[in-house]
Amino acid sequence: MNPASLKPLAEARAQVLEAMTPMALVDVPIEDALHRVTAVPVIASEPVPPFANSAMDGFAVRHADAAEVPVILDVIEDVPAGHVPKLRVGPGQATRIMTGAPTPEGADAIVPVEDTVSLDGARVQIDAAPAVDAHVRIAGGDVAIGDVVVDAGIRLTARHLASIASTGGSVAVAQPPVVAIMSTGDEVVPPATPRLELGMIRDTNRALLASLLDELRIPVVDLGIIGDDLGSLRAAYQQAAADADLIVSTGGVSMGDYDFVKQVLGETGSVEFWRVAMQPAKPFAFGSVAGVPLFGLPGNPVSTFVAFEQFVRPAILHAMGAEKLLRPRIRGTMGEDIATSPDKDVFLRVLLAEDDGAFVAVRSGGQGSNVLSALASAEAFAVIPVGVGDVSAGEPVTLEMFRWDENRTQHDE
Ligand code: AMP
Ligand code: MG
Repeated sequence: MNPASLKPLAEARAQVLEAMTPMALVDVPIEDALHRVTAVPVIASEPVPPFANSAMDGFAVRHADAAEVPVILDVIEDVPAGHVPKLRVGPGQATRIMTGAPTPEGADAIVPVEDTVSLDGARVQIDAAPAVDAHVRIAGGDVAIGDVVVDAGIRLTARHLASIASTGGSVAVAQPPVVAIMSTGDEVVPPATPRLELGMIRDTNRALLASLLDELRIPVVDLGIIGDDLGSLRAAYQQAAADADLIVSTGGVSMGDYDFVKQVLGETGSVEFWRVAMQPAKPFAFGSVAGVPLFGLPGNPVSTFVAFEQFVRPAILHAMGAEKLLRPRIRGTMGEDIATSPDKDVFLRVLLAEDDGAFVAVRSGGQGSNVLSALASAEAFAVIPVGVGDVSAGEPVTLEMFRWDENRTQHDE
């Protein structure tokens, strides 16, 4: 093979991202915002906490009154959370206060209940001298008016949503694109088929794609399995273009195989067939049907996954304005000798072990682009960039984490 005829992955991805149209912005209630991408920075229009309040159950005092302890103060009022103090704390006085209740005027410190002795309800003995502002949560101490609560381009997590909720009930995010998926191939039958005829295989790709899209909370239109004939393909593409913002089909893009795709897209759209310098997932078709972007992924399931991760997922996230387009990449060590093609970015499916705090990668099983079992058990890609080829055990390697195994113990506990 002539490496010069291969398109570098970075170039292919840049071209794909360039072709994406940014999605429209919508204001959504926080209940609907998980995994959405912030379109603009979330700016606080009010302080959090909204008022100075107590961080402890205890007594609000003037710290100067309790500089020497023990000291006995008069309890003038009881303030539970959600209630407002009516009295100002004067010399020799204290207010019983619960966590989250507004601090009364005059007081400048909270003495935790553990450091006090209640004498008769009306008086309290303070046993520990508080510092100024002890256990007082000041207004705006978490977020001040005008602070950026969450930057633009962030895919929202539970933690972000809690922070946004502290300042209001909605957030501006990008509308997620509707994605149409289909598997192509005369040999492909639904996974639930009771008995396979000779030559038939169960469709793995739609289960994979639908789930990967669901992880991103992307609405999916599933167009099913499309036979290798012009009429079916034409109808499916037209349907997809009518129903979706982006089309992902698998199969029918290998050499000698893509005549149907080419012919159909010649009528209603455009397509380029690329040979990307990557392994797996070298063949890749990218084009549009009636203005809707089309991703023609290779049919082999592992190739489908790699191409989804390297092209489709970044494209969707980019269209939603996300800053981070690839899964997290970390440094690790190769745990075995491997030989790969130096002409390509190679994505090995690996499992990680830990050795003295370093991640050590070994292949999770067979590396054929049809071997789903080794993909299922893998945690990461070991990414071997163009120009490298062979890697020996002990050499550094980039790991692209598509899963953090919750069963792995990071440290001895
Ligand atoms: P293709 O890209 O259509 O040439 O297909 C490449 C290989 O992937 C062939 O062995 C196909 O049978 C297989 N394949 C294609 N589509 C699927 C699918 N949806 N599920 C499982 N295997 C598939
Ligand atoms: Mg096929």
